[in-house]
Amino acid sequence: MSRSVTLSPPLGRILLRFPHPEPPKVLRFPVLPVFLPFAGCPRRCIFCDQAAQTGQAQEPLEAIFARLETQLEETADAHPQEIAFYGGTFTALPEPWPRRFIELAGRFLDSGRISRVRCSTRPDAVDAIQLAELKSLGLSLVELGVQSFDDAALSASLRGYNGATARLGCETVLAAGLDLGIQLMPGLPGQTPDMFQADVACAASLRPQLARLYPCLVLEGTPLAELWRAGSFEPWSLDAAVAALAPALLTLWSAGVPLARLGLVEQEGLAVLAGPRHPALGQLVRSRALLDFIRSRLPELPESAQVLSIPRRLQGEALGQKNVLEREYNALGLAVRLWDEPDLALRAAG
Ligand code: SF4
Repeated sequence: MSRSVTLSPPLGRILLRFPHPEPPKVLRFPVLPVFLPFAGCPRRCIFCDQAAQTGQAQEPLEAIFARLETQLEETADAHPQEIAFYGGTFTALPEPWPRRFIELAGRFLDSGRISRVRCSTRPDAVDAIQLAELKSLGLSLVELGVQSFDDAALSASLRGYNGATARLGCETVLAAGLDLGIQLMPGLPGQTPDMFQADVACAASLRPQLARLYPCLVLEGTPLAELWRAGSFEPWSLDAAVAALAPALLTLWSAGVPLARLGLVEQEGLAVLAGPRHPALGQLVRSRALLDFIRSRLPELPESAQVLSIPRRLQGEALGQKNVLEREYNALGLAVRLWDEPDLALRAAG
């Protein structure tokens, strides 16, 4: 335990005891990713470099299929894994590839080698008939790279669809009886923090099974890099991104939507020119979100709290690196104490 966590005043009466606001984690199996960089994409989006983001070059679908088939057959006795088709627009792959890939994964669902099948695609590339067929073959979760529901941000980012289409895509996935994942990209061209909060509220209202938030970065080799070099695009600063992501995370938590990922996985070869990045971005945002949550609970107390009890296992997450957020709790009039209970508690002075 860090010695900088406040050791006084003594513990007093508990005024409010509550669990961490994050939805309970659902136990999942490890993911076997199958990357299909740019496959099926109708255009190259201005921020995207799938080859660098996935660390895998484009190659013929037949080669990817053959390698996956061999891998699954040769590891038929391995522990169950979820299989995830990422990196392109899966439902827009040329026929019959969506069906072939899902059929292949579905064969191993029966044996228990594969526990769940998911894919990622664009919201304007889903239709009810195709989804019903893929579901019958074993698909169970569709992640939509929505990026934004805002017409202006989508237009400025040349996504090729509007907010109504983005929403309809989500509804189509849910109506097909499939689990839905929503990916949003705060800091897109033309997007303000207020627009992003509206995006998150819209996503939360759809009750997806998971969400991912990827702050917009300027990657070398993308059209966005040219805009940035020309001075036509400025990404959000790290502080601005954290300030926007913390309330967004609270919105998702309060809607019971788990966050599966915050920020790009920085593969070797990913050249980030500008934008909000930090090796502990997730922790920065989670600790801010928890601070905001606790601040929001203070007015409902019957008397002012002077001590916040935090589960010892959450010290790093709640207080941030080197307990930097302890000062902010102190500014709320709260001394921070660690305890071995699973919940958090606000207490009167002892
Ligand atoms: S963002 Fe999605 S749709 Fe756009 S190029 Fe990248 S993988 Fe394709």
